[in-house]
Amino acid sequence: MDTKPDSFDPADGDALIVVDLQQDFLPGGALAVRGGDQIVPLVNQYLRRFRQRGLPVFATRDWHPPRHCSFQPAGPWPAHCVAGTPGAGFAPGLQLPPDAVVVSKAQDPQHDAYSAFSGTSLVQLLRAAGVQRLFVAGLATDYCVLHTARDALAAGFAVVLLADAMRPVNLRPGDGAAAIAELRALGARVASLDGVGAV
Ligand code: ZN
Repeated sequence: MDTKPDSFDPADGDALIVVDLQQDFLPGGALAVRGGDQIVPLVNQYLRRFRQRGLPVFATRDWHPPRHCSFQPAGPWPAHCVAGTPGAGFAPGLQLPPDAVVVSKAQDPQHDAYSAFSGTSLVQLLRAAGVQRLFVAGLATDYCVLHTARDALAAGFAVVLLADAMRPVNLRPGDGAAAIAELRALGARVASLDGVGAV
């Protein structure tokens, strides 16, 4: 089996989307994803490569009301990413460009939304920017990255998963790997920093 990773040179029609790289999902946060902080320098390198090429950058954020249905005891998660709180802020050191398009999601108290396409105008924003292919990084591989990438594929966008710039929750062991396998089966490709606009 050929395990050589795919190689890409981002150009017009490509965009980078950083999913939910927020303080509450980092070690020490309310809903910490193991190693979530380790992807920040990698995401910054991807950001630099897309900005050098003048390509658009999108950043999604979980942006919950204080009493959200996903919070315990009724929901599956501890309270996290409450809009306007420090925990909902982007990761320290994340170098989002000033013109990054920020998409807030899961703002409805009654509905959770793992996908950044759910209840947002993301699809319109991407089409207005001429985006045809999305390079996806962020947290967590087996939840918001999975659902966002799945919806992107369903909406007709090509998807490249930046495997070194995402981390899973792995509530069950292997959830992250299963998410990537599912997305590959749906047509997503997988790359790492060496294979994306490397000089
Ligand atoms: Zn949430």
